Amino acid sequence: MNQPVHSRTVRDAVYRKLDERGVRLTDIAEIVLELQGPYHKDMTLETCLESVKAVLEKREMQHAILVGIELDCLAEKKMLSEPLQSIIESDEGLFGCDETLALGSVFGYGSIALTSFGHLDKNKTGIIRKLDTKAGSGVHTFLDDLVASIAAAAAGRIAHRARDEEEQRAALKPGNADGEPIAADAPDSAESA
Ligand code: MG
Repeated sequence: MNQPVHSRTVRDAVYRKLDERGVRLTDIAEIVLELQGPYHKDMTLETCLESVKAVLEKREMQHAILVGIELDCLAEKKMLSEPLQSIIESDEGLFGCDETLALGSVFGYGSIALTSFGHLDKNKTGIIRKLDTKAGSGVHTFLDDLVASIAAAAAGRIAHRARDEEEQRAALKPGNADGEPIAADAPDSAESA
């Protein structure tokens, strides 16, 4: 049996492929900030970037990214067989495998990630729009959805972590020594991300 590919090799490939395809992690972090910024007054781009990097550590996400980018690249080189070549190359409207692949990797981040993905799929902001409208050349049928899924997962992760941190802070407040967290100020706002 073949040796499994080391996680580091896979992660390095993900970073390299995103870079080769013109996606910077700060581009994705900007989308995360747009999604979560309104719910957390001190949210910074650095926090969003840190969340993007954490999401990129997940094997399911890494595999989806590698599969999707590979198919985009093969379509660019016209190396797929017909009719798939034409379908992916033209980013045919009814071809849903790009969304399905990307969606599968956000499931682990809860409903906020899911609804954020739907929002990005519909509204396509920042680099997602650039990729979707094929500014420049190249096939980005899978990549736009993958970027949306990374951003959505990172946003979901931030929403849940922010709540955890609020509750931890509340639990440490004087007069709350019994460990029952005091309800935080605007906890449910993140739920509607
Ligand atoms: Mg697409």
